[in-house]
Amino acid sequence: MPALDRLTGQLSTYLSTDQVNAVRRSYYYAEQAHDGQLRSSGEHYVTHPLAVATILADMHMDHQSLMAAMLHDVIEDTGIPKEAIVAQFGDSVAELVDGVTKLTQMKFGTKAEAQAENFQKMAMAMARDIRVILVKLADRLHNMRTLGALNPEKRRRIAKETLEIYAPIANRLGMNRIYAEFEDLGFKAMHPMRAERIHSAVKKSRGNRKEIVNKIQESIAHCLEREGLPGEVSGREKHLYSIYQKMRGKRKAFTEIMDVYAFRIIVDKVDTCYRVLGAVHNLYKPFPGRFKDYIAIPKANGYQSLHTTLFGMHGVPIEIQIRTREMEELANNGIAAHWLYKTDEGDGRRNNHARARQWVKGLLELQQNAGNSLEFIENVKIDLFPDEVYVFTPKGRIMELPKGSTPVDFAYAVHTDVGNTCIACRVNRRLAPLSQALESGATVEIITAPNTQPNPNWLNFVVTGKARTHIRHALKQQQREESVSLGKRLLSKALDNLGARFEDISMPRLQVLLKEYHQEESDDLLEDIGLGNRTAHVVARRLLSAEDAGANPLAADGPLVIRGTEGLVLNYARCCTPIPGDLIVGHLSAGKGMVVHRDSCKNISEFRNNPEKCVPLTWAKDIDSEFNVELRIELAHQRGLIALLAGTISEADANIDKINVDERDGRISVIQLGISVTDRVHLARIIRKLRALQGVSRITRMRA
Ligand code: MN
Repeated sequence: MPALDRLTGQLSTYLSTDQVNAVRRSYYYAEQAHDGQLRSSGEHYVTHPLAVATILADMHMDHQSLMAAMLHDVIEDTGIPKEAIVAQFGDSVAELVDGVTKLTQMKFGTKAEAQAENFQKMAMAMARDIRVILVKLADRLHNMRTLGALNPEKRRRIAKETLEIYAPIANRLGMNRIYAEFEDLGFKAMHPMRAERIHSAVKKSRGNRKEIVNKIQESIAHCLEREGLPGEVSGREKHLYSIYQKMRGKRKAFTEIMDVYAFRIIVDKVDTCYRVLGAVHNLYKPFPGRFKDYIAIPKANGYQSLHTTLFGMHGVPIEIQIRTREMEELANNGIAAHWLYKTDEGDGRRNNHARARQWVKGLLELQQNAGNSLEFIENVKIDLFPDEVYVFTPKGRIMELPKGSTPVDFAYAVHTDVGNTCIACRVNRRLAPLSQALESGATVEIITAPNTQPNPNWLNFVVTGKARTHIRHALKQQQREESVSLGKRLLSKALDNLGARFEDISMPRLQVLLKEYHQEESDDLLEDIGLGNRTAHVVARRLLSAEDAGANPLAADGPLVIRGTEGLVLNYARCCTPIPGDLIVGHLSAGKGMVVHRDSCKNISEFRNNPEKCVPLTWAKDIDSEFNVELRIELAHQRGLIALLAGTISEADANIDKINVDERDGRISVIQLGISVTDRVHLARIIRKLRALQGVSRITRMRA
């Protein structure tokens, strides 16, 4: 078994003899279990798990991952139960195998919904033990490498799934080497002709470029030597799929993409990175604005490096990446690099590992709050293709957010409670709108107030999945509470009218009714009433029908009191804009809750006498809210008109919400004014002040 011996040899460079033997033992177990099975290529099945384990060995993964790789298809394909694996290889290995099996059993349908659900399961598996996903990625990589043996349709399906699901995951976990290979193999399977054309073009240009590449490489190497800086200079090429995407996405010609000369310099330590940067900036002139310090601010997947672009001889652009060997390892193997230098737990690596875990944790949190799978995958997609901005908390902590993120996204990224109670923000110490897109480098401070709620409008501008889900969640919660409370008041009122009190309804009677309505608890019933799905009136009768009515027909009969703080379940009709002091009625419409109209509003005339749809209302005595009304003002045209009106209105302690000027004939202007007032008395005071202005001929309060 030369392949096994080769693997064992490789393992003995970083694992103990006991561990190597355990891996060998798992190989023999798999060989026996898969005995007689062949792959599509005609090879013995066990060559596959062996190859998967070898991929993981290249990343220096631990012995348990390697054993799980050897056994990863045993449960699925040979019917050996998990318990047998536990008995042979212990709990941890069996758990890993079980996790990989579950991922393998997920069927990726063509429908987005099916994919989303699979994604959730994958995220779950990752959270429990990230090694499950690493084994699964290695499994997929070997399957991609041996795709040729399958029929074209299956090949395309697997390739598509790889590009859509596995490549982004590898990228997010910082596993660049696997990521690039996934993309190239997927690309070749999906578009064999295009891949071939780009491949041969790359080969050809490699020949043409060779001379220049060598020249530049030498001059950089000399420069480092002169400065006494140890460093390895190598040329690098873009992978096929990324060239293809650049050509498509940025509509660039092939030659334009290949016109860039790219090099990597690997050095011993961080300090040297910066000194090498200084040296190459001396050698060639740097492109302004193209320097990126991913060492100080690593990418979300943990990637660290210095990037710079220089003008080479004759102005050819030279892209240079400078990093330490460790950073190089991390760039290639990402999260898997964590297992590499196990004995030396440097802060940097632990930090990077923590970031990857953080990402997984975020995924799970999204999943728990997302209403349905599709919503979830939309959120995840945004997070998977990060185009990040980096901003600072007032204490200098760096937060990474997707491009276009607003202060609200930032607030939710800091903490859910901060997001839910945020009312304003300062960007670089200045008050800024909550909807403003943040730019890298900004310092963001969120101002919160207790007992506030997320604003539904935020959903129009937030970009992170986290903010979106939490806002929806909070709004749902808030609407529920408000509906229950309104429902309770409506029901109490209805009971009142029948001479009973809510508190006196017996528990068993309530239970009977809930059961009849298929509801779990009384709050569900109250919510339904508050939302207008059920009529308080009818429910009240049903509750009393079995009680000894004892109904007192002379019971207090009065309207329901509106306090102005009911929130989402209570709306003020736009057609007649009622304010405290107006006579009002409530119109219940299913699902929307109650809409408050003025008693005189034409829109409710047909319902007014229907007690199931209309509820008599009255205003509470001490309302402390503002209400919108619209005024129509006719006045002689004059200069500084709007300033005059605005001044008068603010003198009367009211705010202008909107203003619309309509010039009639050059002499008369008609102005529509939206203002917020506390009540009718307040409004009357404002109208009186406006009437006193010179040139005002007519003021009416608008309806509809
Ligand atoms: Mn497999």
